[in-house]
Amino acid sequence: MGLGPGGAAGITAEARQALAAAEVVVGYTTYIILASPFLAGKEVISSGMKRETERAEKAVELALSGRRVAVVSGGDPGVYGMAGPVLEAAPPGLPVSVIPGVTAANAAAALLGAPLMHDYAVISLSDLLTPWETIAARLKAAADADFVIVLYNPRSRGREGHLEQARRIILSARAGSTPVGLVRNCGRAGQAVSISTLNEFAATDADMFTTVIVGNSQTSLQNGKMVTPRGYAR
Ligand code: SAH
Repeated sequence: MGLGPGGAAGITAEARQALAAAEVVVGYTTYIILASPFLAGKEVISSGMKRETERAEKAVELALSGRRVAVVSGGDPGVYGMAGPVLEAAPPGLPVSVIPGVTAANAAAALLGAPLMHDYAVISLSDLLTPWETIAARLKAAADADFVIVLYNPRSRGREGHLEQARRIILSARAGSTPVGLVRNCGRAGQAVSISTLNEFAATDADMFTTVIVGNSQTSLQNGKMVTPRGYAR
């Protein structure tokens, strides 16, 4: 199940009910902390990053022993989250429900204005599980096709240069004046929103808690908000 982008305000009623009904809650430590207001009286199993398969297998093992288990992801569980690993680990016959949440792209877009009004592509810059060449090719294809581009995992230790490389790839097909929005810690303490341009934004302003949205060729600023028109004026 997805917890939404941040605190209690962003969780859906359906997710809240599922959490209330769970006996055991399994998740990445950061998300367990975010879910803590809803965890009283429950057994909690948390683990660090990059332990997705292990977490999914543990959750399935607990469910097979007869417990009611909730596996939590930030945002939406089906977007770079736990829904896939859990469905892969579950044997035939074990009932699994995927409960959606507000993904970072949608939460960040709302804070920036209305940048996702037309076709958009979501691309993760993390090369932990995807070769960088594949990521670079997708950035180029999305830029050439004039998609609004949402970047997840824009930056972290060990891959500081990825966002700057992404900026250059997109610049090869899009104007330097294209609006770019950065939202850090959406819905959480320390939330920060900034709007700049493809030419001017500093890749160093983004960290692993930031979502970046690059406008398409039609995106503009309206009273300080990013707006992508519903279509292309003929
Ligand atoms: N399942 C999550 C995404 C996990 S990938 C979802 O649907 O939102 C992790 C990336 O998501 C981060 O590197 C960041 O780019 C983005 N992200 C997740 N939560 C965020 C938040 N509260 N504010 C800004 N970006 C966030």
